[in-house]
Amino acid sequence: MNFTVLTLFPEMFSALLAGGIVKRAIDRHCISVELINIRDFARDRHRTVDDRPYGGGCGMVMKPEPLTETIRHAKKKHPDAYTLLLTPQGRPFNQRMAQKLAGCAGLILVCGRYEGIDERVREHLVDDELSIGDYVLTGGELAAMVAIDAVSRLIPGTLGSDHSAQEDSFSTGMLEHPQYTRPRSFEGANVPELLLSGDHGAIRQWRRQASLVRTVLRRPDILMDQPLTTGDIEFLKKLQQDIKTIIGKHSTAS
Ligand code: SAM
Repeated sequence: MNFTVLTLFPEMFSALLAGGIVKRAIDRHCISVELINIRDFARDRHRTVDDRPYGGGCGMVMKPEPLTETIRHAKKKHPDAYTLLLTPQGRPFNQRMAQKLAGCAGLILVCGRYEGIDERVREHLVDDELSIGDYVLTGGELAAMVAIDAVSRLIPGTLGSDHSAQEDSFSTGMLEHPQYTRPRSFEGANVPELLLSGDHGAIRQWRRQASLVRTVLRRPDILMDQPLTTGDIEFLKKLQQDIKTIIGKHSTAS
């Protein structure tokens, strides 16, 4: 998978590319990341990339000409790539979208700056728009890095074991179960005994139920569309019954 990033600040990406899983994925030829400076496509003497907004108002807007030329250049080089604009007005980025994007032949990521890009570029040259959350960043670079990181780890060969991405929070439709490592006892807190039992069936069940409880408590919204097994429903019913009993006991006592 090739990521082509169109940006006014290519130097910002050195942190992402210098280490960790993304660097390893590049070294293993699972992904490649190409940075293109939009300013290189500005044609005037001052290499202007922004201008004042029509209609007045504060801030500057990214001019259509250099950005259009940059996008066309990237598309010519990667004709099968999917072009994404990073914008707070885009579709909220999530694991499902990351999985879909991981299946693309390539991604062209357009990073805005200032008050954003000229609307005509957005209308005609972009396949989709992606937001990393309901807040406003100063530029699309951090959002592009988030997308590159999340999508890369879903590309086969990027992680040590492809299995680990499948079990992550959201990939299973739930939050992941709690994780423990050595030492067995840390500052008075012990690892759940069952995880030390070597009983893989019981461990699998414990993890599934811990995932369910964690998701019910923290993100019940994502369980609404999630297919649950009969075992899951039975477990939740039992939990519901236990909670009712406890409440009942305390209500009669008070
Ligand atoms: N005036 C724009 C608006 O209100 O929608 C915000 C422009 S923002 C200051 C500059 C650039 O940062 C945007 O063009 C976009 O590329 C990027 N950006 C800001 N917040 C973002 C977010 N939540 N997700 C993705 N990109 C974002």
